[in-house]
Amino acid sequence: MSLKTRILGLAACLITVAAIASWLAYRELSEDIIERWGQQVAEIQVRYDSARLLQSLEREIGLAKQMAQSSALVNWAQAPAVDGLKTEAIRQMESFRSNFRDNSYFVALRKNGHYYYNNAANEFAGDQFRYVLDQDKPDDAWFFQLIEEGRDFHLNVNPDVELGVTKLWIDVLMRDAENQVVGMVGTGLNLDDFLQDIVDIGQEGITTLFVDYNGAIQLYRDRNYIDFASIIKPEGQKNTVDLLFDDPEDKQQILGMLQLLKKKGDQAGEVESGFVTVDGRKHLAGVAFLPAIGWFEITLLDLNTLLPTSYLWPLVGVFLVSLLVTLALFHLIIQSKILKPIMTLEHAVEKVRDGSFELPRMDKPDNEIGRLADHFEKMSQGLRHSTRDLENKVAQRTDELNRLARIDPLTGLKNRRGLDEVLDEEIQRAKRQGTGFGIIWLDIDHFKTINDQLGHQAGDEILCRVALWLKAGVRPYDHPGRWGGDEFVVLLSPCDQQTLEQIAGRIRQLVEQESRKTGHVVTVSVGGYLCSPEDNSNTILRQADRALYQAKNQGRNRVCIAKYEDGPVTAGG
Ligand code: GH3
Ligand code: MG
Repeated sequence: MSLKTRILGLAACLITVAAIASWLAYRELSEDIIERWGQQVAEIQVRYDSARLLQSLEREIGLAKQMAQSSALVNWAQAPAVDGLKTEAIRQMESFRSNFRDNSYFVALRKNGHYYYNNAANEFAGDQFRYVLDQDKPDDAWFFQLIEEGRDFHLNVNPDVELGVTKLWIDVLMRDAENQVVGMVGTGLNLDDFLQDIVDIGQEGITTLFVDYNGAIQLYRDRNYIDFASIIKPEGQKNTVDLLFDDPEDKQQILGMLQLLKKKGDQAGEVESGFVTVDGRKHLAGVAFLPAIGWFEITLLDLNTLLPTSYLWPLVGVFLVSLLVTLALFHLIIQSKILKPIMTLEHAVEKVRDGSFELPRMDKPDNEIGRLADHFEKMSQGLRHSTRDLENKVAQRTDELNRLARIDPLTGLKNRRGLDEVLDEEIQRAKRQGTGFGIIWLDIDHFKTINDQLGHQAGDEILCRVALWLKAGVRPYDHPGRWGGDEFVVLLSPCDQQTLEQIAGRIRQLVEQESRKTGHVVTVSVGGYLCSPEDNSNTILRQADRALYQAKNQGRNRVCIAKYEDGPVTAGG
């Protein structure tokens, strides 16, 4: 996998991890904000709804309490059979009826169980006694239960089968001077009207319900959930608020909130809140206790309706776009500042590795890679210079070695290898041009004896002198050389028969004459051969050697020139 793919892959992974972390943090934060916001909304809503409920009820409750304290009613309740008291009591009841909002009332007497009622239509004028409450009838159980509990005031949602109405009843106990319960008075509010005014407020996404001290649902838009005649139902059979929630944790949470608020008691205004699921949708539940009536108010805020997640899509869009832009910018920066310079550097390294110092133009960003490329460029320039120097030195040394390999160290003339090369060149040239060239092969006479008499050192000096006389005897463009031992060879180019003879004779003569001056005569025998373009090196050397042999044979210190076919043509001393 290329570095680019790996870096971009790594960057994408890191950005994704960062994005997930940011998203989780964002969700956490937004939930926190929504919860805080929802809590405040729930508090305001709860206070607003409570105020509306209490406003509607307070006046009715106050009137009912006044009615319960009416001496005419209390006196009559203590002696229901006294007609005079009854007439006065009914007059009193009717005056309260016109003041109640519902224009209805009820009065129930403990002593005889008589139940009196009249409604807004004044339907039962003169006939307010409706029926006798029966302790054994479930429908009448509320009356006996409330007396037994001894609570002075109670709100009760209950259908009255006899009267054929379902109402929110305000029940107030009537007591005599000894504080004994003598009966119960109150009024009712039409449940449907009440629900419409207080609960079905028509605000989308907000659901309000009221539950009693035990959590039984009292006011809720869906009547099926209302726990009618809650007072007479045993624990466990009540429609409690947890019925609204499917999740056991939510049930626990709501009941926990009720318990907490109960503990806090009369500290009005406290609102508990938490997230719950109702009908599969997430809601924020706000719960408050209403000490004036002993109920709880629960407000459910549907967050999806009040704050739809679609509001957040632009934010998600901005997040995704910025993510892509970041990735693209990251790619561009990595590409221009790291990857491209690294690739050109790699290319340059490959070229240097393969021996080429022609480097491509390198990107040098102002960072570590740029500096690395700069160092590499300078290093390769240094390498190029030192390589070139080294090559030059090697070439010089090789030339020198080549030269030395072709030079005889004692005499400074060409050695046998040098002579071989010149001979090959002359043969080639003769073939090309169709011309000949001459070869002279000479050998010092009785050199062994010289060595023996004068010593090897003196022998060497004589070899050197002969070399000098040889050089002096040939033309500047001839090639004199030492073949080995006391034998010398001269290649003459260009040359003809006469020149060959002349130069061979001159050399022999020069050696003799010059050596004489040194006090010790040295002579040489000389063989010569004029080579033709058809000759090869073997033929040439053999012919020259044969001529030298003849010169030796004929008494030494003389010149013999060989002809190809047979013996020498000339011999001279
Ligand atoms: P000839 O007249 O037949 O040539 O007799 P010669 O004694 O010269 O015999 P030859 O040419 O065969 O002997 C060559 C001698 O040269 C043999 C050897 O001792 C001597 N020699 C060869 N190389 C050197 C050298 O480098 N220095 C010295 N001082 N002597 C050498
Ligand atoms: Mg010799």
